[in-house]
Amino acid sequence: MKKVFRLIIISALLLGILIPVFDYFYEEGTKKTIMLAQESRDRNIEEFFKLAKEAFYEANYQSAEYYYQQIIELAPYNLESRRNLAVVYSDQNKLREENRVLLETSILSQNKHDYLNLAVNFYELNNNLASNYILETKINKNDENKQLNSETESDNFIFQKYYYLVKNNLELENYEKVQKYLAELSDLNGSTSEFYLLRAELNKLQKNYSAAFNDYESAYQANRSQSYLYKDMAQMLEKSGEEIKAYNHWQRALNYGWFEELAYQKINFYQEKYPNLKQKTEDLDQPEEVDPFGLEASWQEPQKLKNQKKIEMLRIGLQEANEHLLFQYSDPFAIIYQGRIIFKGRAKENYLLELDNESIYISSRDQKIKLGDSKLEYQLYSSQENSSFYVYNINYGQGYFWQGSGNRQYRGNMIIKGEGDNFTLINQVELTSYLISVVPSEIYASWPEEALKAQAIAARSYTLNNLGRHSREGYDLCSSVHCAAYNGIISEDQRTTEAVLETQGETAVYEGRIIEAVFSSNSGGYTERSDQIWSADLPYLRGSNQMKEDNYDFPLTPLELQQWLFSAPESYSKDYGSSNYRWQLKVPAEIIEYRSGLDKIKRIEVNQRARGGTITSLTIYGEESEKNYSVSQIRRVLGGLKSSRFYFNSHYDKDGYLKELLVFGSGWGHNLGLDQSASAGMAAADWDYREIIQHFYPGVEIINYNLQK
Ligand SMILES: [Zn+2]
Repeated sequence: MKKVFRLIIISALLLGILIPVFDYFYEEGTKKTIMLAQESRDRNIEEFFKLAKEAFYEANYQSAEYYYQQIIELAPYNLESRRNLAVVYSDQNKLREENRVLLETSILSQNKHDYLNLAVNFYELNNNLASNYILETKINKNDENKQLNSETESDNFIFQKYYYLVKNNLELENYEKVQKYLAELSDLNGSTSEFYLLRAELNKLQKNYSAAFNDYESAYQANRSQSYLYKDMAQMLEKSGEEIKAYNHWQRALNYGWFEELAYQKINFYQEKYPNLKQKTEDLDQPEEVDPFGLEASWQEPQKLKNQKKIEMLRIGLQEANEHLLFQYSDPFAIIYQGRIIFKGRAKENYLLELDNESIYISSRDQKIKLGDSKLEYQLYSSQENSSFYVYNINYGQGYFWQGSGNRQYRGNMIIKGEGDNFTLINQVELTSYLISVVPSEIYASWPEEALKAQAIAARSYTLNNLGRHSREGYDLCSSVHCAAYNGIISEDQRTTEAVLETQGETAVYEGRIIEAVFSSNSGGYTERSDQIWSADLPYLRGSNQMKEDNYDFPLTPLELQQWLFSAPESYSKDYGSSNYRWQLKVPAEIIEYRSGLDKIKRIEVNQRARGGTITSLTIYGEESEKNYSVSQIRRVLGGLKSSRFYFNSHYDKDGYLKELLVFGSGWGHNLGLDQSASAGMAAADWDYREIIQHFYPGVEIINYNLQK
């Protein structure tokens, strides 16, 4: 017995030791298996993130959704995939799907940025109660502790918070709260257009129409791209009984091309009611008879250009379809036809060119002489080195809101190209003389010198590369922004003139060919590849990064892209163009309806983004039909945006029709080539103009262009 007992004890002891030993090995085994599984899961997650991003930029949004969903299945607490998925939904305006993800995300994260997105989404879906509840209880509750919040809340975060608090309370008719949140918004950025538009809404609802008029006017003054606000101003004036003033505002709405049918209706109505108004308009149409030879020119003394080289003679089309033209020359001049002098004119006297009976005539106060057939070309010429000519009443800015007419003085000589029943006025001018007028219209002359030189090189290369663009019309380039705004001597500035002269002849080439040196005002920190914006894939336009921190690795994930647009991180593009670097704009649905011709808008969907986030394709769904817009049309159809790189929050009414968009964008222009604001920022940080050119057009050389004739 004793032996058996001993055995039992020994066995028990052994087991007691062995079981933990066995357990130990067993656990190690499972750990390894789990670790392996985890590793492969992590690898999968990493792979899915990569695939999702690729799908997003390939415009395959369904696949992007799928990969982010796979990550959520594998790792339910992976907030990054949920947040990315929400952005992908947001781009497609899938608001309900977005709502589900945002709801889950904010519950899991308890993060106020997630809650803000959720509140915005509820507002978009017209659920003001839910939106307001989240804003007031989850986001704004810690406001007593402002110090803590100010560290984590970006300006954009605070702006959106108060913007939507105001919006919700307007709809919920809590006007006292609206006042309170408006005051907060005013403290944040009082003079913005969005603030005035919100206050206009409040005043309108409270029937304070003249106050609402003032707000619309201030909103327009704060952001002049919103010329459609003339309609709102006119309507507020009507409601406060100021009909004559309302009439004038309808006229302006019409002049800017807004709401034609309605505006005409109103204008006719007021003209019937107040016959005096019609009289005035007709008076304006028929200016008083003036003696053309009695008009006085206001000459400017042009700066003498030292060491100007002869590089290339250009023909710039100043004005087409002239039937008559009044001008002066600074010095005695001759009119030449086929090498023969056919007329001699005096300095600083008015001359009138006219068409009559298939001939062109020139008149002065005391004589009228026939030059010849109205289909031929005549050259005006002065032998004086620095001669210029002066033209009365030339049109400028055609098709733009600054359009008008005025007197202009140009360097070089005039060419009259007869077209039969009218003639074209052409300016024959040396490249450098042309550039000293063009460059200051393109960039602020007060900006750092190296940026002005970089612009001079871009403008010179662009000009030389585009010569003959208007050869069918008989000249090289036109004088409008279609080619480059050219207004003659009036635009010149000493600082830009120096930059042009100091770089005379310097031109950017790629593999020996002059480059298409496109530029824009502000790229928002990153420029695009040319083949993603145009069809042409130019090797020196492949996207350049202007961010100052190197943690922006383009293409960004959908979430990073949104965060990059919603914040304003340090960038060379920010230093000299902060109001264009990041911007916001409220776009009412009626503007989009008017521009698209679609009746009631059900959805606006982004189809594709370029690698820097620029939207290159967008669809607007109306009640009956839909329309697609390419990168060159998007800015216009949304009422005139500064660029087509943006995210937007939409807002739908109870019936599911779009009411308005709040757009958050970056940059000004097409996002290709040289970014002028960034170039100024770089120049201020001691970059040399060659470094700037090579940053924006990588792989190019700067050569000295010689006249090859
Ligand atoms: Zn042109």
